[in-house]
Amino acid sequence: MLLLALSNITAMDTERIVIRIKTPDGDMDSTVDCPSLLSFSDLLNAIRDVMPEATITAFEYEDEVGDRITVRSDEELKAMLSYYCSTVMEQCMNGVQPEPLHIFPRAGKTPGIRNIHGLKVNTRPSSASSCGPATVEKLPNNSLKKSSAELKKILSNGQINEQNIRYQELLGHGNGGTVYRAYHLLGTRALAVKVIPLDITVEQQKQIMSELEILYKCDSPYIITFYSAFFVENRISICTEFMDGGSLDVYRRISEHVLGRIAVAVVKGLTYLWSLKILHRDVKPSNMLVNTRGQVKLCDFGVSTQLVNSIAKTYVGTNVYMAPERISGEQYGIHSDVWSLGISFMELALGAFPYPQIQKNQGSLMPLQLLQCIVDEDPPVLPVGQFSETFVHFITQCMRKQPKERPAPNNLMDHEFIMLYNDGNTEVVSMWVCRCLEERRAQQPQPQPHSVM
Ligand code: ATP
Ligand code: MG
Repeated sequence: MLLLALSNITAMDTERIVIRIKTPDGDMDSTVDCPSLLSFSDLLNAIRDVMPEATITAFEYEDEVGDRITVRSDEELKAMLSYYCSTVMEQCMNGVQPEPLHIFPRAGKTPGIRNIHGLKVNTRPSSASSCGPATVEKLPNNSLKKSSAELKKILSNGQINEQNIRYQELLGHGNGGTVYRAYHLLGTRALAVKVIPLDITVEQQKQIMSELEILYKCDSPYIITFYSAFFVENRISICTEFMDGGSLDVYRRISEHVLGRIAVAVVKGLTYLWSLKILHRDVKPSNMLVNTRGQVKLCDFGVSTQLVNSIAKTYVGTNVYMAPERISGEQYGIHSDVWSLGISFMELALGAFPYPQIQKNQGSLMPLQLLQCIVDEDPPVLPVGQFSETFVHFITQCMRKQPKERPAPNNLMDHEFIMLYNDGNTEVVSMWVCRCLEERRAQQPQPQPHSVM
């Protein structure tokens, strides 16, 4: 049975955690035995016990950069606990005494505060909500300067610009650009900034900016959050949420129970995009990102035709994850995304690209002729002995040569393999990411100690 007892204990192990409820009258520690059994309503009741006067409907916790995350359901509670456990693991590995999990109760709005007249507000995220307070730009009175400032405004989406970000680390190069970890001067959030050089006209730049507008509408836990984009000279910088586990292409063979949970998130992310009538068009392991909280998110989907075309002009080659019909130049549809999903997961399961005759060196672009085997041959099948029947079936269905024979979005969600792992357990992915990062760190050469004369 669940035990939620108020005490001052701060010790912590995997069977027991301490939750610190931050109330206006001071902190209250609660020890939770078997956190995996804790439900949202149990915790809410415990908060209501310590704050009987307030109408508590939700609570918040802080992530690694101090942003408040709201918890309103069992699923969000699980995500919080899984994030907390990974933080504790990291602290233990660094020899640091773990802190209790701090939560901040949130009172429900009183009717007077609610928007009873249904007034519409601009829902576009401002820097105040994403990366600190907005900066107010004063425009000079000179009309020439004004028009160039206006153009600059058109060529930037959101409040982040070149002046208020600082680059920290190179994360990787892709076919079109270079990705850096950065931070915003007015905020604490880590950013991933993709910088793509583009030799295009101002009109084309404007078109890209207007096509990127749709990214503000994307609001899914399975899609990377878009913060801002701006042009400086002939380069576009696209700022998104940073994922501390990076992309899946750098992980070795992934075992099926981890891959199953990742597949659920990827299928949910794709289904979400398709529901907005967006085709991803570039589903591949390097566009699937993970973090130590166990979240899996899709990035680099083709919302801007102009951007995709401009990159394609500079980088020649065909993507090895493309469906056979696309390699043959036929029409692209949801089914082509499904093929790419299948081949990506087959590669992640095998730890090698499923067509051995295709040697992927750097990147995923190849001369078209070398991909003819994908069009001509029967698709590869996962070895049955090494993987479960349901996983083999899932991949085989996604990689049917005939696009129409591949599962439609609702059939993907209803597939036994997806249903089996659709259990909201983010801990499995979280623990796996933490372990892999730890192994990677251990393999890195240790700095030589300096001898001080
Ligand atoms: P393509 O240009 O075809 O998309 P790619 O996906 O390999 O190829 P990029 O998208 O430029 O290349 O990304 C380069 C690398 O940067 C990725 O492999 C990934 O490791 C890292 N990366 C990209 N976005 C993020 C992010 N939001 N958080 C953390 N790492 C990221
Ligand atoms: Mg990418």
